[in-house]
Amino acid sequence: MLRLFNTMSRRNEEFIPLNPPNVGLYTCGPTVYSYIHIGNLRTFLFEDVLRRYLKFKGFKVTQVMNITDIDDKTIKGANEAGISLAEFTERFTNAFFEDIAAVGIEPAEYYPRATEHIGDMVSLIRRILENGYAYERDGSIYFDVSKFGPYGALSGVKPTLCQIRSRIDQDEYEKQDVRDFALWKAAKPGEPSWDTEFGRGRPGWHIECSAMSMRYLGETFDIHTGGVDNIFPHHENEIAQSRAATGKPLARYWLHSEHLLMDKSKMAKSAGNIYTLREITAMGYKPRQVRYFLLSAHYRKQLNFSLDALSQAAGSLARIDDFVTSLRSASCSNSDNPAIAQCISECERGFEGAMDEDLNMSKAMGVFFTFIRSVNELMSRGEISENDRSSINSLLERVNSVIGVIELGREVELSQEEKELIKMRREARRAGDWASADRLREQLKERGIIIEDTKDGIRIKRLH
Ligand code: AMP
Ligand code: ZN
Repeated sequence: MLRLFNTMSRRNEEFIPLNPPNVGLYTCGPTVYSYIHIGNLRTFLFEDVLRRYLKFKGFKVTQVMNITDIDDKTIKGANEAGISLAEFTERFTNAFFEDIAAVGIEPAEYYPRATEHIGDMVSLIRRILENGYAYERDGSIYFDVSKFGPYGALSGVKPTLCQIRSRIDQDEYEKQDVRDFALWKAAKPGEPSWDTEFGRGRPGWHIECSAMSMRYLGETFDIHTGGVDNIFPHHENEIAQSRAATGKPLARYWLHSEHLLMDKSKMAKSAGNIYTLREITAMGYKPRQVRYFLLSAHYRKQLNFSLDALSQAAGSLARIDDFVTSLRSASCSNSDNPAIAQCISECERGFEGAMDEDLNMSKAMGVFFTFIRSVNELMSRGEISENDRSSINSLLERVNSVIGVIELGREVELSQEEKELIKMRREARRAGDWASADRLREQLKERGIIIEDTKDGIRIKRLH
């Protein structure tokens, strides 16, 4: 049974979708005004694992991730660069897609762009106005927070008397600063604007997500996610304006991932303490190592970034790679080993049990490494059959459908003769016949096969 921590109820709840097996998942996407940093990636990777694990559990996921291509930050960026908003945001939208593909994030079903849904936003604002939750002031339209009783249910931030009827035009603002926020902003010189029934203007940031989520997932859907910084004001405002329009809750489960930190503070572009994926790969790290590092902690725990921590994660990933290689070349016995079957079923049970507990990835990986250790031992004694090997492969595929870091296709293809030589060498070593083992290693080397002995078994490379 899958349980997820719902920020709204502040507890783990059994996950039951509205229309099983379908799951509607809305994940707040990037604001495309610069390259994303690896803090953003942490949240997008959490959402990727959530999506993959829902599929693992047999659900059919429809994921929507918006592209915020109009807001305060994109307008400022385009103006500073002296190019059109569309040209400016296109550049970073493309970079975003490259970065998420590099770290193995599965594509969502929909990536709606805000500028292509202005009509949906206008209709939604009209409904909010008709229901009496919004008012016009100087060509802009504001949401009246005082009219919405449950305001603050998600974040715990409630308006104080002195805040009532004060207004804010910025898209982003501080916690505690509860004010009437702009749904629609009157046109200003130097800003893109649209001609609508409210006059010329452009949408506020929060209304974008309400309009695009409802367009693709309906007025109430299953899961809405983001980073914890989205809880207030962004998600609080989404909840208020959506319910004001439809009378229904927008989403049933609200999930938020914790921040990636640098030197104990949130990695954020405004603070200047960021690394992009591009900067990290330029140092020689691989995107899959970054993926592994960012996934290895539980998503609701803060994670501190350092190059040391990244290198450590790369080391753990290398152990998985070595295991895959050894598995490929393990010499086989003729009889199936019940101990292997036992390891597989323990791993399956433990992995799923951990992920069922609010996606406890660190625990799930612990289970997986225990499995690797036990199987390595059995393999090094040659106690594994061809059947066992293929059952292990199926398990790896299943685990990898969630974690997405194992390179299952990276094995060295070996001829029958090469396999035989490796097997003979292993047997020679086991018998303590080091001279034969060395001779066999040389014979393999002449064929371009390099054998390294590691504590986790042998590693095989083919020279090109
Ligand atoms: P933005 O483009 O600023 O709207 O951010 C995109 C996503 O990244 C949002 O869901 C944010 O909550 C998330 N995010 C931003 N900074 C961090 C961070 N340091 N750690 C984890 N997630 C973050
Ligand atoms: Zn959003």
